[in-house]
Amino acid sequence: MNIILLGPPGAGKGTQAGRLQAERGMVQLSTGDMLRAAVKSGSPAGLKAKAVMEAGELVSDDIVSALIDEKLGTMAADQGAIFDGYPRTAPQAASLDQILTAHGRTLDHVIELEVDEDALVERIVGRYSCASCGTNYHDVFNRPKADGVCDVCGSTEFKRRADDNAETVRTRMAEYRAKTAPILPIYDARKLVHRIDGMADIEHVSDAIEAILEPRA
Ligand code: AMP
Repeated sequence: MNIILLGPPGAGKGTQAGRLQAERGMVQLSTGDMLRAAVKSGSPAGLKAKAVMEAGELVSDDIVSALIDEKLGTMAADQGAIFDGYPRTAPQAASLDQILTAHGRTLDHVIELEVDEDALVERIVGRYSCASCGTNYHDVFNRPKADGVCDVCGSTEFKRRADDNAETVRTRMAEYRAKTAPILPIYDARKLVHRIDGMADIEHVSDAIEAILEPRA
């Protein structure tokens, strides 16, 4: 199964993709995570992307589509893919069609997380993750069971993203409205879009996504 999670920054795409990966054995393909790894490693793609990401703008279509193509090439044919934060522009949506075909895959569902943009800044500025295993947390909505200790791996080191600040978030929202929201009609025309309430709590959003996906084998 191949699905796209769509929604503005902070809508919960990464959280839900992580859950699907853990519970269904699907693979999360987050271009944001791939780009952050490229920035950290100092690769040519990372060097190009760093300033653009810090400004909250979009990295070039060619770079992100190449990352997706490369990652799909490493996956087994029967492993499901969750596209998280990709595609973000009409050219990326066109590239994804070509890439999926080249890998013998078809798109099953596009799940749009509908959210109240005013609430997103609070969601975004409060989020952080375990520096060791990457589990996501939030200062208010999703704290570890014991303060300062990762539930999953026990690490006491956490990190926050450089672009999760109120100013950059506004640019990221504007990019979403201008360049990403317009791709929904492409998928609407193909009857692939499911809209769910992304403001519900994490469990309810997970349940709504599970209801859309086919039963587990
Ligand atoms: P995300 O982790 O999805 O919020 O992405 C963080 C940042 O990485 C974005 O603000 C963009 O600068 C860049 N980025 C991630 N995915 C894409 C994409 N599909 N197209 C262009 N830029 C992207």
